[in-house]
Amino acid sequence: MNPVSLITGASRGIGRGIALELAKLGHDLVINYAGNAEAARKTVDDCVATARTAGKTIRAEACQADISVGVDRAKLISFTQEKFGRLDLLVNNAGVAPTVRADLLDASEESFDRLIAINVKGPYFLTQLAAKWMIEQSGERLSSAAARPAVVSAAAEDSRAPSRPKIITISSVSAYTASTNRGDYCVSKAALSMLTPLFASRLAANGINVYEIRPGVIATDMTGAVKEKYDKLIADGLTPIQRWGTPEDVGRAVAAIASDAFPFSTGEVINVDGGFHLRRL
Ligand code: NAP
Repeated sequence: MNPVSLITGASRGIGRGIALELAKLGHDLVINYAGNAEAARKTVDDCVATARTAGKTIRAEACQADISVGVDRAKLISFTQEKFGRLDLLVNNAGVAPTVRADLLDASEESFDRLIAINVKGPYFLTQLAAKWMIEQSGERLSSAAARPAVVSAAAEDSRAPSRPKIITISSVSAYTASTNRGDYCVSKAALSMLTPLFASRLAANGINVYEIRPGVIATDMTGAVKEKYDKLIADGLTPIQRWGTPEDVGRAVAAIASDAFPFSTGEVINVDGGFHLRRL
C-alpha cells in the first residue's frame, strides 16, 4: 500500500514541486488548490507520469478547498478519507502574499486579516484535524502526552519500524526577516513558525513527527512580480549560494523527511534558503 500525502496549495509553485518529489517516492497524493483547477489537473497528471518514470504506480486526486474556511478544511480531510482511507503526511504549503505590497504605515487591516486567515488559521486548524485522524488511524485514543509513558525503550521504538506519520509546514525566511512593505506577511509567517514546536510537543507521544521547512527566495508565481529586484539582490550576494531556489529544492527536503531520514528529530526547522539565514561579517 502506498503512503498517502495531502499537500495544500499543490497546483502551482512550491506545492507542485513537493508533489512531484513525493510522486517519485511512490506516494498517493491529494493535490489541494484554491481556484486554479486546470493547474491542479496538470499537477495530478504530471505526478502520475513522474511516478511511472520512477517505476512507481500512484494515484493522485485534486481537491478544491480554501484552507482559510472551516467547512473546506473538513471537506479536504473527508475527501482524503473517502479516496484513500489513510493519511501519512500532511504538508501545510498553501500561503499567499499581500495583493499589494504597502508600506507598514499604510497597509490595510483587510490585507492583514486575509493573510492571517490563509497563512496561519488555515494550517493551524487543518493540522488539528489531520492530527486527530492520524491518532485515530494508529488505533490510539486522543490521549494527552502526560497520560503516556515518558520513556519508550529503543527496542519498542525501533527506528526501522513502520514509518511514523508526519506533518510538515512550509514557512518562510519572512518569519524572522523584516520587510516593511509586507509586514502582514512577515507577521503571518512568524506566527506560523510557532505551529511546529506546539504540534511537535503535543504529538510526539502519539508517534507523529512534526517539521518546519523555511524556504528563502524561490522562483514561483509568488515572486514573479519582484523578479528583477531579487535577480539584483542575489547577484549582489544576498545568499551564499548565489542562485534562485526552486520548488524542487523544497520538494527534495520534504522527500528526505518523508523517507524517514530524520526519525529521531521533531520540531526541527530546516532552512532551504541558499544560506540566507547565516550572519556574515
Ligand atoms: P504560489 O506560486 O503563489 O502558489 C500558491 C499555491 O497555494 C497555489 O497552489 C494556490 O492555489 C494555493 N492557495 C492559495 N491560497 C489558497 C487557499 N486559501 N487555500 C488553498 N490553497 C491556496 O506560491 P509559492 O511561492 O509556491 O508559495 C507556497 C508557500 O511557500 C507559501 O506558503 C509561501 O508563503 C511559501 N514561501 C514562498 C517563497 C517564495 O519565494 N516563493 C519563499 C518562502 C516561503 P491556486 O493555484 O488554485 O491559486
